[in-house]
Amino acid sequence: MSIPEAAPSPRVVDRTPSSATGESSPTGGGGGAEPPRTPFLLDFYPLEDAKYTRISRFFEELRAGHLTTTRCPTDGRVLWPPRLVCPECHRGDLEWTELPSRGRLYAFSAVLAGAPLGMEKDVPFVVGLVELEGIPLRIFSRIAGVRWEEARIGLEVELEPYTLEDGRVFFRFRQASGGSERTPPGEAAGKVRCP
Ligand SMILES: [Zn+2]
Repeated sequence: MSIPEAAPSPRVVDRTPSSATGESSPTGGGGGAEPPRTPFLLDFYPLEDAKYTRISRFFEELRAGHLTTTRCPTDGRVLWPPRLVCPECHRGDLEWTELPSRGRLYAFSAVLAGAPLGMEKDVPFVVGLVELEGIPLRIFSRIAGVRWEEARIGLEVELEPYTLEDGRVFFRFRQASGGSERTPPGEAAGKVRCP
């Protein structure tokens, strides 16, 4: 395998807006310079307003402390995340329903490195699948309030809506105050029995 002769390499373009201070750094080293401002969070839902999304009610309810989603009145399917059309019967006028705000950790993992944009300072942290109380629905979420070394399957968690720096709202789950840990079947004293 041969490496093609190097073409003139394109210059790296600095897309950082010009510094208002007028301080320049010809070497590009940027020692002591303010790092460019990056988005706080990956924008899965950049526009929560009713002008831009038909699931704006989800965010309005979340701001009021309620976790909601859509449900198909025909077949009763609870859809997550909230959808506009039932994937089963294609009905388009779905109804909104409130979900339980408590649940238990069904599975979890720890983010120790390579955190998503905006979460670098939070490492290490826990993410997991929350099995909601009384409904066969598991929601993936950030899990707050517990160190990853101490997280356990069965840990009781509760909904925690929170506001992003730019005013938007999102949710995570947090270890429930006074929450108990249910020992999963087949486990005793933290030891998993292998067949
Ligand atoms: Zn349906």
